[in-house]
Amino acid sequence: MSFLPFSKPTIDEATIAEVGNVLRSGWITSGPKVAEFEQQLSDYFGGRPVRTFNSGTCTMEIALRIAGIGPGDEVITTPISWVATANVILEVGATPVFADIDPVTRNIDLDKLEAAINSRTRAIIPVYLAGKPVDMDRLYAIAAKYRLRVIEDAAQAIGASWQGKPIGSFGDFVSFSFQANKNITTSEGGCLVLNDEDEVRLAEKYRLQGVTRSGWDGIEVDVLGGKFNMTDIAAAIGLGQFAQLDAITARRRQLAQHYFECFGTDFEAQSGAKLPPQDFTNTNWHLFQLELPARMSRANFMAQMKERDIGIGYHYAPIHLFKLYRERGFHEGMFPIAERVGRQIVSLPMFYAMNEADVERVVRAVRELLG
Ligand SMILES: *Cc1c(COP(=O)(O)O)cnc(C)c1O
Repeated sequence: MSFLPFSKPTIDEATIAEVGNVLRSGWITSGPKVAEFEQQLSDYFGGRPVRTFNSGTCTMEIALRIAGIGPGDEVITTPISWVATANVILEVGATPVFADIDPVTRNIDLDKLEAAINSRTRAIIPVYLAGKPVDMDRLYAIAAKYRLRVIEDAAQAIGASWQGKPIGSFGDFVSFSFQANKNITTSEGGCLVLNDEDEVRLAEKYRLQGVTRSGWDGIEVDVLGGKFNMTDIAAAIGLGQFAQLDAITARRRQLAQHYFECFGTDFEAQSGAKLPPQDFTNTNWHLFQLELPARMSRANFMAQMKERDIGIGYHYAPIHLFKLYRERGFHEGMFPIAERVGRQIVSLPMFYAMNEADVERVVRAVRELLG
């Protein structure tokens, strides 16, 4: 049987042809395709301003800079995310503060987030793990109550929604990633939804060396920016992918539903494993994650699935236990739920081009190993 990866992008022939057109056009860096992609994204996010970048990491760093967050400021986030989420806080010189996760949603526990707020807290970075939003009403009620900025790490959440509204179409800063494994990709890239034209001007400066136009013939540099622009090659991939977003989200929801059907109602009680919450309206099913029972080590499970030609992902090791963070005073025992989930979590194969038989094959293998 052929190897089933945990994730795989689907790039259609029309998109490949468009990338060829860009390559032949003589203009291969940021240009008309980037502008078109930003316009389409803005339309999708209800007309809010959007700018694209070369990653979904720099988007968050830039949002923190626009918000004026730096040394002496605390930013609260979850320990269960890709390390990028906390690294950007260090990158701007601020102090990361973690709050433990909810064992069911595996997202930041909003009660614990609220308890971690103090007079130095300036912002919160919620993460929508697997494309499942947190309680957005509660999140923004907390932000309003304590006057905090929100930088939504919606890297995994394009196509997800809250009460019928797409994630990104409301709220404060919303950051998306188009990295290769995400639901839609530009190979590498990201976008940031902003609030107003002042923020757009700053985002454009931080994106390109702090350069701004000044006078009739000159340029001026008045802030320290970096080199974060998206190319037209990437934007051409993004436009082709974005056209398929609704189909991709719908298909992922079908596949998730099929996983639940195949596992059946007795799986959790029989195996001791924990399935994700069943949600087919908000979640975009970026990942289908299983928390393994304590008796099964993640490494052993992953190795045995590999022997069966099935790829398993790991999202994520708790950030606070990485050396860089331990050196900043974090240690084991601080966030027990994140530590347990971080030890036992696995991501089963989930991608657009998978079929029902693939899901059935994965569930058979999982049942064999946990039976
Ligand atoms: C992918 C991802 C990022 C980083 O995005 P890049 O585009 O790879 O920089 C950040 N946070 C989460 C939760 C992610 O899944």
